[in-house]
Amino acid sequence: MKTLYKSSKLENVCYDIRGPVLDEAKKMEAAGSEILKLNIGNPAPFGFQAPQEIVQHISDNLINAEGYIDSKGLLSARRAIAAYSTRRGIRDAYAENVFIGNGVSELIVMAMQGLLDDGDEVLIPAPDYPLWTAAVVLAGGTPVHYICDELNDWQPDLADIRKKITQSTKGIVIINPNNPTGAVYQKEILLKIAELAKEHDLVIFSDEIYDRILYEEAEHVSIASLTNEVPCVTLNGLSKSHLITGYRVGWMVFSGNLASASSYLEGVNMLASMRLCSNVPAQYAIEPALSDDAIIRSHTAANGRLKKQRDLGYERMKNIRGLSCTKPKGAFYFFPKIDTEMFGIKDDERFTLDLLKKEGVLIVQGTGFNWFNPDHFRIVFLPDTSLLQRAFDAIENFLQDYHQK
Ligand code: PLP
Repeated sequence: MKTLYKSSKLENVCYDIRGPVLDEAKKMEAAGSEILKLNIGNPAPFGFQAPQEIVQHISDNLINAEGYIDSKGLLSARRAIAAYSTRRGIRDAYAENVFIGNGVSELIVMAMQGLLDDGDEVLIPAPDYPLWTAAVVLAGGTPVHYICDELNDWQPDLADIRKKITQSTKGIVIINPNNPTGAVYQKEILLKIAELAKEHDLVIFSDEIYDRILYEEAEHVSIASLTNEVPCVTLNGLSKSHLITGYRVGWMVFSGNLASASSYLEGVNMLASMRLCSNVPAQYAIEPALSDDAIIRSHTAANGRLKKQRDLGYERMKNIRGLSCTKPKGAFYFFPKIDTEMFGIKDDERFTLDLLKKEGVLIVQGTGFNWFNPDHFRIVFLPDTSLLQRAFDAIENFLQDYHQK
């Protein structure tokens, strides 16, 4: 039989969070090793439980969720999303412009497929959540990465953004609060991004899936609340805020100046219709969830699990020679810098593989987030404090005599 090759559309698509290093980890597990998987933001395996009322509500409604529904999603859920958006200061969020999907992941792909022609450029943060870059490439577009500045708390570098806008730029993506850096963007910077978008006719895509995972004084501002002069697409979901990554439920809200976006909306509508509708049972979680985020707030509060884990990891890294880390203000990831000179690191995938093989700890290399240099990695801080101590003991031990040959 002829060899089956993957399509050329996938040639430059890269998603290292579940890439070759994970494949090696699976092999090691199959051979009996215990692997501490800190490569993915999946709260359930670390003992985080979804709010029981929400699970109950889904269960009670299973009987109502047997058929296909409107491809945009349940009207009651879309109304709840529109009301949530209004509470977040988005003035013109209407249920008819809300699309519910199988997680933000599906909607990122849909949003890019619906917009891009070959060669269209999209500005994406570096580091990024790599699905954004992958989705742009898959849709035939060209991702153009703008720098987020580690020395400025990982805020987007406006001068770099400006420099990279061309005639072909169609949109700009922001991830706020950010994965992988944990940055929460300042209002002044968001206002400037909105101005640039207006000046250059760009659609703003704002991935806000961590908008309720904030520590201490951090305040999240939705960029769509700052402008009604450009089209904004705000993406969010319940995976992280309500600890139900497996239920697959997210949404995107189109707001702002949509007068010129009717054809784009028509395209997105068509794509949504082609998959009939998204998972219906999980849509029943949306209405109750959007009026109750007590669980996640309890985890991020002063005495909460996530806050304690963040503080512990941050303190540990301060004392590991060759590592430095900006303190995350949101989400549940660290993106520490490694002193590549000290360890002779030229290839960060090699570095993560070496750590995995020696210590059984799985992390993701910074270049997997489209970061330019092999000098960072991402580690999730979802494990409880004793497991996290073990992870940092292992990393410290590993770095003590690591040198890439
Ligand atoms: N966007 C960001 C920034 C993420 O970190 C993730 C998951 O880690 C997603 C989107 C995907 O979320 P979902 O579970 O809704 O597909």
